[in-house]
Amino acid sequence: MNVTAAVAIEPGQPLELRTVELAELRPDEVRVKLAATGVCHADVIARDQVYPVPLPAVLGHEGAGVVEAVGADVTHLAPGDHVVLGFDYCGRCEMCSVGKPSYCEQFGARNFGGFRLDGSSPISMEGTPITGRFFGQSSFATHANVAERLAVKVPAELPLHVLGPLGCGVMTGAGAVFNTLAPKPGSSFAVFGTGAVGFSGLLAAKVVGCTTIIAVDVVHSKLQKALQLGATHIINSSEQDPQETIREITGGKGVDYALDAVGISAVFTQMASSLTVRGHGVLVGAPTPGDDARLDLGTLLNASSPRLSLVLEGDAAPQEFIPRLIRLYQAGLFPVDELVTSYKFEDINTAISDAERGTAIKPVVTF
Ligand SMILES: [Zn+2]
Ligand SMILES: [Zn+2]
Repeated sequence: MNVTAAVAIEPGQPLELRTVELAELRPDEVRVKLAATGVCHADVIARDQVYPVPLPAVLGHEGAGVVEAVGADVTHLAPGDHVVLGFDYCGRCEMCSVGKPSYCEQFGARNFGGFRLDGSSPISMEGTPITGRFFGQSSFATHANVAERLAVKVPAELPLHVLGPLGCGVMTGAGAVFNTLAPKPGSSFAVFGTGAVGFSGLLAAKVVGCTTIIAVDVVHSKLQKALQLGATHIINSSEQDPQETIREITGGKGVDYALDAVGISAVFTQMASSLTVRGHGVLVGAPTPGDDARLDLGTLLNASSPRLSLVLEGDAAPQEFIPRLIRLYQAGLFPVDELVTSYKFEDINTAISDAERGTAIKPVVTF
């Protein structure tokens, strides 16, 4: 069937709305009519070929919608089900078997390869198969054919445009806090970078009972928003040295936990240097390949000995984690709707540029 997609044709150029062909469903797939999709930094770096996803490409990996049709072998979903789409994984390798699918041995091929592993694609443009399997979903389109395991069933009464970002950005930030750092109640936490990932970490730190929550960014409006959503302190790192200010706030100690949601080397070094003795810091997101970070290895001897983790997709298994985030949202403890700005599908390039400039925390395109 013919569907409309926003297609990345050239690096650095706006996406173009095109009519593309969506193939027949395979037995293990479901066809989802997208209601909304978040825009995430990984879409932009794929468009710009920092990560070499084959172009032309239908990008998008925070889709949410309604199941329209199911393949013959699909058992857990039916037409009419509301779903959020997560990342792709094999479900059988060592890491998948222990509930860590973001470290699947096929993660790169399945999420950045652009095609199914047999080389086919559910999407063709002018008769030629193109990248139609970005993160297993390619959600910058009115419809997507995805493997059943990617689609997480969600309550039908909830707004799909709020739930889409749970599939990547929100899962990444919240998962890094809930699953990796697991802060003790009454502890201190700093987040570097208040985009959607950083804000999701901040909301999670509040849920688990961190009592000092420090937000670091360079955009004044985002820091003000951080104060509204639970930060106890804000640091504009274009005006203040974050490492020094964090030491002042914590009585000279440094923070117990920190999240680097920026992914550039200078920030990683600041984050690692802001931790207290045996503090735990985590780097998430999509840093540029080849970017080295400086770390004073002498911290091992001068008694701070921090723990540092590099984490993909929040150490989360989407089928288990997304429903948990939804229960927190329903209970009023995780106001992810506060992060969302909606755009029409035809304004997707504005959504992308607003995300890059920081004027929107989590742009979501609705269909
Ligand atoms: Zn696997
Ligand atoms: Zn993402």
